[in-house]
Amino acid sequence: MKVIAGNWKMHMGPAEARAFLGGLNVEAVPFDRQLILFPPSLTLVSLAADPARDGRVRVGVQNIHWEDQGAFTGEVSAPMAAECGATFALIGHSERRHVFGETDEEVALKAAAARRHGLVPVICVGETLSERQAGHVDEVILRQLDAVIPELREAEHALIAYEPVWAIGTGETATPQDASAAHTTLRRRLVDALGPKKADATAILYGGSVKPGNAAELLSAPEVDGVLVGGASLDPHSFAQIAAAGA
Ligand code: PEP
Repeated sequence: MKVIAGNWKMHMGPAEARAFLGGLNVEAVPFDRQLILFPPSLTLVSLAADPARDGRVRVGVQNIHWEDQGAFTGEVSAPMAAECGATFALIGHSERRHVFGETDEEVALKAAAARRHGLVPVICVGETLSERQAGHVDEVILRQLDAVIPELREAEHALIAYEPVWAIGTGETATPQDASAAHTTLRRRLVDALGPKKADATAILYGGSVKPGNAAELLSAPEVDGVLVGGASLDPHSFAQIAAAGA
C-alpha cells in the first residue's frame, strides 16, 4: 500500500473542492493506493461531508493547536477537526516551522493532541538548503524525529513525511537516491526506538515538487512508502496521475 497525500495549503475553498471531487477519477487509481487530502480547515467541513467524496479519499487537517479549546484566536483543535471528519493531521509542515516559527516542542505537543483525539499524525521533517550544504541532513531530520518519538511510542498509527525544505514549491526535487537515503536514516531510528514491527508499519512519505512526471521513480525508490504533494495536488487530473504512477 502506497500513500498519496495532497496538501492544498491555503488554496481551494468549498466550491473549488467540490469541483475537484467531481474531476477526480478515483477508479483510475489502483486499490493499493491510499488517498488523503489536506484541505484548509474551512473547506474540510464540507469536503469530509460531501456525498461525492469516494470512501477511498480520506481527509486530514493541515494544522492543529495542542490545546483542545481556549483563548487561541484563529486556531483549530484536534477534537474539532475530528468532529468535522478529519482522520489525519499534518503536523510540523515546513511552512509551519519556517514561516510561523513552530518549534520541535510544539510539534510534539500537537502530535500528542492528535493522538488523544484519534487523529493519525503525519509528522513532517526536512532540512533547509543551507543545512544540506553543510552536511547536516541526518542531524536535522533525526532531531526533528526524536522530538516526537515519545508520541510515536504511544500512538497506534502515525506517518512521517520527509520534505526537504529546498524542494517544496520550488520545482527542485530530491533524487530518488537522496530520498531513499533520508528515509533509510529515519527508518533506522524508528526501528531502534519503536521496534521493527511498528517501524515497518510507519509509512515514510516523500514530499517536494512531486509531479506526474517524477512520481513513478520516487514511489519506486527503496523506503519510499508514498508521497505528499503540494502544488500538483490542486488539479484532480495530475493528482490522479500521481496516485496511479508506477502501479
Ligand atoms: C508540500 O506542501 O508539502 C509540498 C511538498 O509542496 P510541493 O509539492 O508544491 O513542493
